[in-house]
Amino acid sequence: MAAGAGAFSCLGLGPGCRKRLGLHVGSALRRGSARRSSGSTEVYDVVVSGGGMVGTAMVAALGHDIHLRDKKILLLEARPRKASDQLPKSYSNRVSAITPGSVTFLSSFGAWEDISSMRIKPFRRMQVWDACSEAMIIFDNNNMEDMGYIVENNVILSALTKQLDAISDRVEVLYKSRAVGYTRPTHYQTSDSSPWVQIDLADGRRLQTKLLIGADGQNSMVRRTAGIKNIQYRYDQSAVVATLHLSESTDNNVAWQRFLPSGPIALLPLSDTVSSLVWSTSHEHAIQLQNMDEESFVDSINSAFWSNANHSDFVDTAGSMFRSAISLLMPSGTAARQLPPSVAKVDPKSRAVFPLGLGHATEYVQHRVALIGDAAHRVHPLAGQGVNMGFGDIACLTHHLSSAAFDGKDLGSLKHLLKYEAERQKYNLSLLAATDLLKRLYSTSITPFVLLRTWGLQATNAIPPVKEQIMAFASK
Ligand SMILES: Cc1cc2nc3c(=O)[nH]c(=O)nc-3n(C[C@H](O)[C@H](O)[C@H](O)COP(=O)(O)OP(=O)(O)OC[C@H]3O[C@@H](n4cnc5c(N)ncnc54)[C@H](O)[C@@H]3O)c2cc1C
Repeated sequence: MAAGAGAFSCLGLGPGCRKRLGLHVGSALRRGSARRSSGSTEVYDVVVSGGGMVGTAMVAALGHDIHLRDKKILLLEARPRKASDQLPKSYSNRVSAITPGSVTFLSSFGAWEDISSMRIKPFRRMQVWDACSEAMIIFDNNNMEDMGYIVENNVILSALTKQLDAISDRVEVLYKSRAVGYTRPTHYQTSDSSPWVQIDLADGRRLQTKLLIGADGQNSMVRRTAGIKNIQYRYDQSAVVATLHLSESTDNNVAWQRFLPSGPIALLPLSDTVSSLVWSTSHEHAIQLQNMDEESFVDSINSAFWSNANHSDFVDTAGSMFRSAISLLMPSGTAARQLPPSVAKVDPKSRAVFPLGLGHATEYVQHRVALIGDAAHRVHPLAGQGVNMGFGDIACLTHHLSSAAFDGKDLGSLKHLLKYEAERQKYNLSLLAATDLLKRLYSTSITPFVLLRTWGLQATNAIPPVKEQIMAFASK
């Protein structure tokens, strides 16, 4: 590694203070300074490292911002370019539930138009229910507006890549370009030291930037080499994803999620006959599900949605008494339960398994460095929020960078980067905590907990203002 953790090892001051001031000295740094004196490295205003959905959207948003028009912006992506005009007939097994807030963001620079002209499926209702009781909650917009959209990740990335093509005079993109080292500037400049962040690429090239944005995913090297702590733990669950064909054609505009004791199972609509599965379960069960024959796999899914094997008479009776009491107090607060569709077939080879975890960077920014997307936070997919949080980061960071550029300020300065951190950490941490709590609350079948969550869910379902608050928060 050209500039590993050693490149950011600090001397003297306490770690927090040193990091904020950008006081970093190390062997790679010294090597970097020497190389720079050859004068052959290019200086960018912003380099985004990592061209997944979040990094690509970041560069598209920066490239479209009027105040950043004269800036030199670069996207680095380790993998080859992924954008095709030809949409494959079969659906991808990697999909995301996209919130109205993300739609507004993607529309602000024209990407949503491209995405919706390719392939999306709106949903108008979400039904979430407990496998250990009759408790359920239904979210729907009375005005029949779309609650969100299920979109294949490839479709989002293709549309964003086309956006970059359209502004190729304003942004540069390097595919198959892996960053192998980052070196931040020293606080005290010497005649041969660089005031900018230096980036070493695997092919030996060296670049410099006034601001480095890490969009390099959950194992972010930008985060690691900046010495930013990541609070993280692995869940005892993996997610099994697959593309499923339904037994019959329906309107299929409902997103279904059932909380089983081993983890939530979700069915997300892709068309009137096709849905996407995200089933979070124990690692062992996930591997079994991945390897079993197709018929048994389909049977397991149907049984997970339909079986009442986890119910107990006690909880059912207590739950139904509570529901009756609520319906007397709030007659309009109970919505009719719908039955989930039954699954007939799985697309061959569409099954895949992803280990799940939680992660949160204690800092999103340092002098000349910012983190966005999974590099800054990783969340359980039960709330379908990961990439939406990333898009929220971009909207916020672009806003602050745009204002800084308008005022003629240094884009890499901590002053406005800290505003981004304060705004986004507040929102992202609340979502992470709520999602983690839900995951834990539903991972048990111990009767008192089941009863408590049954009553909690029934009460929440019956009080429209509470549901509206939850929907508004999760739609951002
Ligand atoms: C099963 C599952 C279901 C999900 N469902 C949803 C959902 O419904 N809704 C939702 O909002 N979110 C969902 N998510 C979360 C969502 O997929 C992630 O939050 C999102 O993909 C993160 O995008 P990213 O661009 O930040 O990171 P990544 O997708 O990890 O992209 C990082 C990129 O950086 C590149 N890179 C890494 N290192 C380097 C380097 N050194 N140099 C150059 N390039 C580099 C990589 O090649 C990669 O392209 C789900 C996740 C899972 C696992």
